[in-house]
Amino acid sequence: MNTTEVQERVVTTSVQFHNSPVVLAEVVEEPTYCATHPAVATWMRCNKCSGLICLKCAVQTPVGYRCKACVRVQQNVYFNAQRYDNPLAFAVSAVLAAVAGPVAGILLDSFYFFGFYLAFVAGPGAGMILAQIVCWAAGRRRSRYTPYFVVGGIVIGLLAGIGAASWVGGYRLWVNAPFWIFTFLAATTAYRVLR
Ligand SMILES: [Zn+2]
Ligand SMILES: [Zn+2]
Repeated sequence: MNTTEVQERVVTTSVQFHNSPVVLAEVVEEPTYCATHPAVATWMRCNKCSGLICLKCAVQTPVGYRCKACVRVQQNVYFNAQRYDNPLAFAVSAVLAAVAGPVAGILLDSFYFFGFYLAFVAGPGAGMILAQIVCWAAGRRRSRYTPYFVVGGIVIGLLAGIGAASWVGGYRLWVNAPFWIFTFLAATTAYRVLR
C-alpha cells in the first residue's frame, strides 16, 4: 500500500464517521532546540513537562523519556526520608560499629593467620547486616544522604570502640590487621547496599 492509498483510506474513513470535510494541514517543520543546549536541534520532548530535550538530556524511565529535572523530582518522592532518619542511621551505625567492630577484631585476632581469611568472608556479611538494621530502624525510608551518615557513624563508632577496647581490656586494635580488613569491607558493603 503506498502513501496515496493510505491517505485516501484515512480521508474516506474520516468522512464516513464525522461527516465533515477533512482539512489536510500542511506541516511546516520549524527546527526546535534543546532547552538546556540551545545549539542542539531536537524534536524530543519530556513526557512530563513537555520541555524540549536532546539525547544527552533525555533520561529513559519506565514511563518514557523525561528531562533531568522531572526525574529528580520523581527521585525526591522516592527518597522519602524524614527529619530524624539520617541522624538515626548515624547513631545506629555508630553503636553497632562501636560494639561489633572491637568484638570481631578481638575474635579474629584469636584465630591468628586464619583471622585474615575470616575477615574477608565476614566483613561484607557484617556490612550487609548493618545495612539491613539501618534500613529497618529508618522504617525503610530512604534518602540520598543515608549512606554518608552510615559511613560517618561507622567511623565514629569504630574510633570509640578502639578507645574503649584499649581502655577497658588493653586491646591494641589499631595494630590488628584483620580488624581493619573486616571493618573496611563491612563499611564499603553497607555503603554500596544503601546507596
Ligand atoms: Zn520534564
Ligand atoms: Zn540537551
